[in-house]
Amino acid sequence: MDDRRPAELDLPLERRLGKRTAAALQKHLGLTRTGELLNYFPRRYLKRGELTLIADLPPDEDATLVARVLSCSTRRMRARRGSLTEVVITDNSTYGNLSLTFFNGYQAERDLRPGTLAMFSGKVTRYQGRLTLTNPDYALLEDAADFNAEEALRPVPLYPATAKLGSWRIKSAVEILLDSVDFTRVGDPVPPDIAIRDGLLSLPDAYQQIHRPATIEDARRARERFRYQEALVLQAALARRRAQATAEEATARPAVAGGLLDRFDAALPFTLTNGQREVGATVAGELAANHPMNRLLQGEVGSGKTLVALRAMLQVIDAGGQAALLAPTEVLAAQHYESIRRTLGPLAEAGLLGGDEAGTRVVLITGSVTGAARRRALLEVASGEAGIVIGTHALLSDEVMFADLGLIVVDEQHRFGVEQRDRLRSRAARPPHLLVMTATPIPRTVAMTVFGDLETSVLSELPAGRAPIATHLVGLVEHPGWEARIWERAREEVDAGRQVYVVCPKIGDEDREDTDPFDAPPPEEETRELAAVVSTAEYLATVPALAGVRTGVLHGRQDPEAKAATMAAFNDGRLDLLVSTTVIEVGVDVPNATLMVVLDADRFGISQLHQLRGRVGRGGLPGTCLLVTRLEPGHPSRARLDAVARTTDGFELSQADLLLRREGDILGSSQSGGKSTLKLLRVITDEDVIATARADAAGIVAHDAQLAQYPELAQAIELYLNPEKEAFLERG
Ligand code: ADP
Ligand code: MG
Repeated sequence: MDDRRPAELDLPLERRLGKRTAAALQKHLGLTRTGELLNYFPRRYLKRGELTLIADLPPDEDATLVARVLSCSTRRMRARRGSLTEVVITDNSTYGNLSLTFFNGYQAERDLRPGTLAMFSGKVTRYQGRLTLTNPDYALLEDAADFNAEEALRPVPLYPATAKLGSWRIKSAVEILLDSVDFTRVGDPVPPDIAIRDGLLSLPDAYQQIHRPATIEDARRARERFRYQEALVLQAALARRRAQATAEEATARPAVAGGLLDRFDAALPFTLTNGQREVGATVAGELAANHPMNRLLQGEVGSGKTLVALRAMLQVIDAGGQAALLAPTEVLAAQHYESIRRTLGPLAEAGLLGGDEAGTRVVLITGSVTGAARRRALLEVASGEAGIVIGTHALLSDEVMFADLGLIVVDEQHRFGVEQRDRLRSRAARPPHLLVMTATPIPRTVAMTVFGDLETSVLSELPAGRAPIATHLVGLVEHPGWEARIWERAREEVDAGRQVYVVCPKIGDEDREDTDPFDAPPPEEETRELAAVVSTAEYLATVPALAGVRTGVLHGRQDPEAKAATMAAFNDGRLDLLVSTTVIEVGVDVPNATLMVVLDADRFGISQLHQLRGRVGRGGLPGTCLLVTRLEPGHPSRARLDAVARTTDGFELSQADLLLRREGDILGSSQSGGKSTLKLLRVITDEDVIATARADAAGIVAHDAQLAQYPELAQAIELYLNPEKEAFLERG
């Protein structure tokens, strides 16, 4: 064990809080140690200064009020799983009572006994003609008699609670820590000179003030310090990683005159865009160096990223190496395989009849390539005969042995975190070059955090022959008649010899998914049937306007042959209309498709919709995308649709997306839900903090790459990157 570790924060919660409380914190929040609970910050604070009377409740706005519980009753819901707790409260104002609703409010039911005095806060909505608060925040209050004035004015912290562990209990546990931890023994990851420069609170003060602020201003300053601290730890981790990467040795893969790349370029039926030429030159130069390339390539769907990647792969093969292309799904891997083989033609058929003797081979390795085909593919990879190896993350398994892996290309990548990239790099004897492609434009701050270990290139111009896409929002609530019009529109496209996509959020043969009880959408949303591929196809067969239209069905649960057959039929124009899930989201390339209808479009995210509509308007024909929704005008989920309809600027959209989305989604699967999820930092609004921390981190790492003089910072990085390992060491 490392004896520099600050034992204060490592102490198991059980030792400070007792068995019962510690067990509850572990079970419901996954917190086991002192530091973890101290770093479990309030979500917001309730302030007495902002109290409203029930009589003055503002509809559709946030309100906070103090009231006494009159009654509390719970019943099971009929239409869906779960229970509904109704709490009636009064503040003795003339209006009288207010009814609150909690879905699965187990904790509320326990806390809000009749007679209890509490502060409630939430958005005021109208339900069946009356005002109500749904799942409001609340804090129990002492009774007025022993309620001292100073206590009463303190903001009340509200913790991210669960249905079974209320904010109130978390608050009491944290207060015990605040009174028992010896903060003088807790190391501060922020170097003192920076704390002084920026006037940051000391670490002990910050812990006290974030959990038990005397004023809102206290809490704000505490949050400011932890926000900077978080940014610094993250940026120092990335700076150290960049420093390590530049120090690493890689095999240089310089271009070879007259090689595959030259011959491919000579045969290319079009000219490269300026962007492709520039990025291509940068990439070619980095591949030729003996340090690993670590580059992110951004560009809209269809901007020609894959072509840039393919040219990089050919250069590596010319230099004697192999390239791996990693796709997020099997369908996409298979599509890449087909399209790269088509693009390379004879160059991809070395040793085969009609193939080019000096060419290479392309192999596909996914879960559905089995038996003899798989063994042959693995052999070709191990022997080095296969220059290009395409697959999903299955390529990361130990089963796949490369003869000489020189380049890894990762496609469509916002789901991939820093750790997965590390794992990829470890697949070769010497670190391979890495090219990450993403179609979601990434704002600067996100690039600095999630992709902070990569250099960035952007393809901003689309190849010639791309026509603009017109996007329209079709609100069926306000325009019920437009439904028929959609299918007439589809018919017109088909009659003009064009093809149509109809995209649905569901397949339609699955059970209803379980929803997180705490995050349950309002009942009217839960019960509506979402458009499903199977039933929509059945329905379209009965729509008179579509009589005689050749319709196909595509979704992820079909077997691979059926999928491939349907896609081929649509590609070849033997189908006019394709009803599908988002399996077509990326990679399908049918220039003749001009109309896309997205049903229940509110169920999709912004970047998903943006990528989806990139499927039309690819053949020089203007494309149209109809976003169909059955939500009321003004419903919050319609904001996303408005954003997508308003602009085709991917950069603007991803900004909008970030503002509307929860942070965890941005950071990708590896970090969302895990303990390393950003706590206070908001990648969009905290650009200044992130930029400052990035510069500070670069300065620190430049003169002390090992962080020898910054043991607390080094430790914080370790904990941030690898909380599980840390916990494991502790147990061992
Ligand atoms: P992305 O990977 O960015 O979605 P691709 O590289 O797959 O884009 O290119 C999309 C389509 O455009 C492919 O059919 C590709 O052959 C074609 N393409 C790529 N670059 C050009 C170019 N410079 N001029 C014309 N067509 C191009
Ligand atoms: Mg692509």
